[in-house]
Amino acid sequence: MQAEIVSIGTELLLGEIVDTNAAYIARLLTTIGLDLYYKTTVGDNEGRIAAVLGEALERSGVVITTGGLGPTVDDVTREAVAAATHRPLEVRRELIPEVEAFFRRRGARMTENNLRQARLPQGAIAVSNPVGTAPAFIVEDPRGVIISLPGVPGEMRYLMEHAVLPYLRASLGLCGVIKVRNLHTAGIGESDVDALVGDLECAANPTVGLAAHPGQTDVRVTAKAEREEEAARLVTEMEAEVRRRLGHHIYGADEETLEGVVIELLARRGRTLAVAETVTQGVLTSRLTAAAHDSEQFKGGLVAPGEVGLSGLGLPSGEDLPAEEMTALAARRVREVQGADLGLAVLARGEPGSLVAYVALDTGEAVIRHSRDLAGRPPDLILPWIANTALDAVRRALL
Ligand code: ATP
Ligand code: MG
Repeated sequence: MQAEIVSIGTELLLGEIVDTNAAYIARLLTTIGLDLYYKTTVGDNEGRIAAVLGEALERSGVVITTGGLGPTVDDVTREAVAAATHRPLEVRRELIPEVEAFFRRRGARMTENNLRQARLPQGAIAVSNPVGTAPAFIVEDPRGVIISLPGVPGEMRYLMEHAVLPYLRASLGLCGVIKVRNLHTAGIGESDVDALVGDLECAANPTVGLAAHPGQTDVRVTAKAEREEEAARLVTEMEAEVRRRLGHHIYGADEETLEGVVIELLARRGRTLAVAETVTQGVLTSRLTAAAHDSEQFKGGLVAPGEVGLSGLGLPSGEDLPAEEMTALAARRVREVQGADLGLAVLARGEPGSLVAYVALDTGEAVIRHSRDLAGRPPDLILPWIANTALDAVRRALL
């Protein structure tokens, strides 16, 4: 059985918003073993949506749409599905209370427009939407099934997990399970990871794949089996092999974050950390603060746009010191000033476009330094790269 996704919205088509819904749906479909061959994006135009749906039904058994279920005139997915499946739209009285209830909870008044949302293509299965106004729906056409979900990401996700996946599992008799384990590495480049686990990437089940992010490479292990325990066993065995090869380069798995692991290690060692950061726009301080909750491990960060802003640390002015020395000094001073066991500093020198970033970690006994030429790197990758490199330096020092 094959599936496809139709993302509906002129904003998506014009690139004003990024289609995160399609990515989310695609990932979920792999967990039930449904093959995805096409994704289409189409604007808020009834005729074009209906045409896309017609083509989709010719080649796929499952078509999932997102967007265009709202109450406004440009929300025409209902009409388009009705046209593509040759059914009239009809008001479903039983859905009106649901639409009304949503407005009551929000303390808003319902307008005539909102009643449009209680209209569905004839014979459609209504999928109630407790997290939004628009009921979603499923049309079982002889050519295939169309599942129409709202565009608001939170609503779409809720309905995918609570209604669509159970429906697909039951109606397609999908009994296989897919288990995924995502192992995160830091402080090692993608090609080095590849050199260590590359041969595993040829395995058929479980499969092993790499995904590079700035300052982090993920190794994804995916196993397919008839039963849950079998899939889990396959994943566990492959994970053990990957861990044997990558060892301490792996900092965590799945939902674990580098900052979370750093805070946990600090707690386990009974140590504290303070940060001074100039190029990273407070990213380190913000990530560590979020991970620390109200624990004492993170003593806080000094965030400044440039070195001058760190004058509170009593650093010599300007370029009196080479960047590496200055960064090491900032790391020591922030450790002392904040009364922490470890001090981490991040500085940069140079012009925009030819920046070099410097990271120093002062542990009280030693200073660990990193530097990286950022010239030619896309700006949106620079911050996470520096932040991950800096956090990984702390993690390694604590291991
Ligand atoms: P509403 O009741 O809010 O009108 P809707 O089902 O009609 O919901 P849209 O109007 O298409 O959905 O989208 C609502 C909002 O949801 C958009 O403004 C956008 O912010 C977000 N959104 C829609 N589609 C996507 C998508 N594919 N990926 C990410 N966000 C999306
Ligand atoms: Mg809308």
